[in-house]
Amino acid sequence: MVFLRNALVVLSTIIVLIATGVGGALVLGRVIPEMEIKPLIIVVSGVVFSLALIFAAFSMYVNHGFGYQGDIIRRVITKDLLVALTFDDGPSSEFTPKILDILKAYDVQASFFVVGEHVRKYPEIVSRMYNEGHDIGNHTYDHINVPTTAAPILSSQLVATNIEVMKVTGEHPMYVRPPRGMYDARFRRLVELMGMQTVLWSLSSQDWRGAVSPEQMIDRLLSRVKPGDIILFHDSGSLIRGEGASRQRTVDALPRIIEELHDHGFRMAPLSRLLRFPHSENIDPEESTTY
Ligand SMILES: [Zn+2]
Repeated sequence: MVFLRNALVVLSTIIVLIATGVGGALVLGRVIPEMEIKPLIIVVSGVVFSLALIFAAFSMYVNHGFGYQGDIIRRVITKDLLVALTFDDGPSSEFTPKILDILKAYDVQASFFVVGEHVRKYPEIVSRMYNEGHDIGNHTYDHINVPTTAAPILSSQLVATNIEVMKVTGEHPMYVRPPRGMYDARFRRLVELMGMQTVLWSLSSQDWRGAVSPEQMIDRLLSRVKPGDIILFHDSGSLIRGEGASRQRTVDALPRIIEELHDHGFRMAPLSRLLRFPHSENIDPEESTTY
């Protein structure tokens, strides 16, 4: 069911991409008709042009949202060398225990945005997360695509996940992260009604990309990390199915990332500690431009 729905989302995305590609080609064809270039080249460059535009708009939306959205947390403004490590899509029976072992060895507390269905399958791993001091947030019941999900299903996805977490920990999750960082106004209202807070991220390890090596992950994070960053990793998941992708590279990179962060003076905290920092009261005008 989840696979079918995700496949449908991917299929409709492809159709939209092709349609906009042809649309882009028509626009480009009108803009540069005097160049007398072959129709095929116009179509291909139109597709590339449209893809780039869609990608730019999508990245812009995911990374910044449109307009000021005070309820969506991406990072915290602070001068303290404090960051939060967050892991999405788990728990996984294979990779989450390895990640928990590493965090325990370095005495680091992180935050896990869990998928409800995986909590039902592996409650003992969620119980371990909780007992070892990590925060547990909601990442929907089966990793739905929020903007294309009907309102009643959206709310049941959030409620069902909270129930699964509460069965294990006895506590209502405080935080929610929409899959792929995609949210809409309905989602924001719902999250507010449920007394939760939406937390995205300010720095991605890009560990979901098959081509990224642990070394590239380490370099990317350490060259960009700033105080107050919320860093995104994955301990389960896959591009289309809910789970199944290898997160071994995340496991391999994590000890070095923690060691290097420590060497640079950074401490790592679960979201419940990082988010105690006020968002606006302590903005340094010098620093606020980097937000
Ligand atoms: Zn996810």
